[in-house]
Amino acid sequence: MRIGHGYDVHRLVPGRDLILCGVKIPYELGLDGHSDADVAIHALMDALLGAAALGDIGRHFPDNDDRYRGIDSMKLLDRVMELLENKGFAVSNADVTIIAQRPKLSPYIEIMGNRLAEGMKIKADQVNVKATTEEGLGFTGEGKGVAAHAVVLIETR
Ligand code: MG
Repeated sequence: MRIGHGYDVHRLVPGRDLILCGVKIPYELGLDGHSDADVAIHALMDALLGAAALGDIGRHFPDNDDRYRGIDSMKLLDRVMELLENKGFAVSNADVTIIAQRPKLSPYIEIMGNRLAEGMKIKADQVNVKATTEEGLGFTGEGKGVAAHAVVLIETR
């Protein structure tokens, strides 16, 4: 068994979609970034790559590479899963925490978990997604950005 942790932050800006765990969330702001800026999937991919000692997403998907401009992060997750499968690893479970003051994410928690389970080709009960605010403190609390942490356990098949 091997463990991995990932962390990511993206800025909230007007004129972008808010996509978290592959789910488009209705909100007046969206996350800025080179890809679709899905901060939760980015944290998850870094956790997966970390657990497999495969570096990080910056190494595999450089943000100056036009192939990844505006890309659906679910597609990047597919690629990360291929890398893990090639090394003989399977995901045991994943736990993702999204830190956002707004919008309220509780209505989307279940569908977000299902999307991540599909993306990692595991069962829904092997994935947990949760959301928290930071009580108005810091950049997430002020609504300037969204952060995400992910922890995963992987096993050799
Ligand atoms: Mg990112």
